[in-house]
Amino acid sequence: MNGHLQSWRNRSPGDLAIELSEIAASDVPAAVEAAVGAAAEWARTPLPERIERLRAAQQALAAAKDELARGIAVEVGKPLTEALGEVGAVVAKIDLTIADAERWLADEGNLGGPHPALVRRRARGPAAVIGPFNFPLHLGHGANVAHLLAGNPVIFKPSPLAANVAARYGELMAAQFPPGVFQVVQGGGAEGEALCLDPRVRSVCFTGSVPVGKALAKALAEDFSKELALELGGSNALIVCADADLEKAAHAAAAGACLTAGQRCNATSRVIVERAVANEFQRRFLDALAVFQPGDPLLATTQLGPVISAAAVARYEKLVAETPGEWLLPGRAAAEVAGKRGHYVHPAVVLRCDDGAADEESFVPIVSLFLADDLDSALRLQSATPFGLTASVFTRSEATFRALGERLQVGNLYANLPTTFSPSTLPFGGLRASGNSRPGGRGFIRFTTDEQAVQWAAW
Ligand code: NAD
Repeated sequence: MNGHLQSWRNRSPGDLAIELSEIAASDVPAAVEAAVGAAAEWARTPLPERIERLRAAQQALAAAKDELARGIAVEVGKPLTEALGEVGAVVAKIDLTIADAERWLADEGNLGGPHPALVRRRARGPAAVIGPFNFPLHLGHGANVAHLLAGNPVIFKPSPLAANVAARYGELMAAQFPPGVFQVVQGGGAEGEALCLDPRVRSVCFTGSVPVGKALAKALAEDFSKELALELGGSNALIVCADADLEKAAHAAAAGACLTAGQRCNATSRVIVERAVANEFQRRFLDALAVFQPGDPLLATTQLGPVISAAAVARYEKLVAETPGEWLLPGRAAAEVAGKRGHYVHPAVVLRCDDGAADEESFVPIVSLFLADDLDSALRLQSATPFGLTASVFTRSEATFRALGERLQVGNLYANLPTTFSPSTLPFGGLRASGNSRPGGRGFIRFTTDEQAVQWAAW
């Protein structure tokens, strides 16, 4: 049996005694062929008709909300309450993207200049959308909907770790469009790469890890007109100033570290606290973490599900063994919780006294806590990373927030909110190693078409 297919088996992270079916890898060239065949007609389809089809998809997804949420919980271990939130965002995304389409896809006229002219946005052709495991539907879906509204056929390759729930999502979506306009292809890295590198694919939207994003950027560097959107990782810091509401900061840091078991690109993996309030913050932070006890993701009460795989547990254990500092909350994995086997880990906190270089994502619920003598040293610690996704500042002073904010090189900046607070009503993307300035979320549709400037003189 093919290597990556083998690795899809028995991967239910909570070992919930639910057999996930094995899904075979797809024929990528055939899918691209079908998308190419559908492209011209779909590009000619008027926007109101495209909108109507997306609305039908929205109804189908809303009707399947519970089934899809349960699928996410079973397959990737996300607690059911969070999974329901993800599917709610999937449904809501269609309205938001329709509003974006009406705003950004229209031709622009009355531009001045010597001749009548307009700028029009032309559908680009087949788009490849590559999804990560941690938001197996929502992140791909945002790009899917934007491309479909812009007149581009879409081929969505979900994470192989969420193949079943993505297959169900794919059925519900594909039923609303002519053949070839929306397809799901299944597979791992090999299928993803074949899809992205196919010259007939004109856009690639990749959400995933930095190494894969870099490899894609290199491989596509010479295809100048292929649009590449990279949504990559983070090592996000929450800064607690001496004047902060410490209780709010503690709860935000705990949630930021533990939602989706720390497996979010915008997870709080570093907390930087001014020394003057460190003891008090530390006490409240450890209290706030107490509610995040690992458990069965299908229980409504569970706030911390299992991590995705044995490899993620191994990474957690390696970080616990190798991160220098004093463990305020020692790291602990558990192979079984309340009679259910799974890849469970407990939240852990380490008080660091090194310079805190954060070159890699941790992607597990471990927080490095740093003490800063003042706000300058807080900024130095925050910037000791190649990433630039999100940062949060807790302070009661707007002036302090503004002063710090000017110097924080991140795509998403928060005052007195968790680093994970990312509503779909705003753009979401990272700077530096976290992405290439094609923010997803609101406005992503700007990156789905080619602009053409047209001028004409007397006929
Ligand atoms: P991953 O990079 O391992 O895989 C992501 C997807 O890429 C999967 O579908 C995988 O099959 C596919 N893939 C692997 N190799 C490929 C290749 N050579 N060419 C094309 N596709 C390939 O990431 P993951 O573990 O599924 O997801 C976690 C990562 O995603 C983290 O780094 C996280 O920070 C990041 N992420 C970023 C955002 C964001 O918006 N910035 C959001 C969620 C997750």
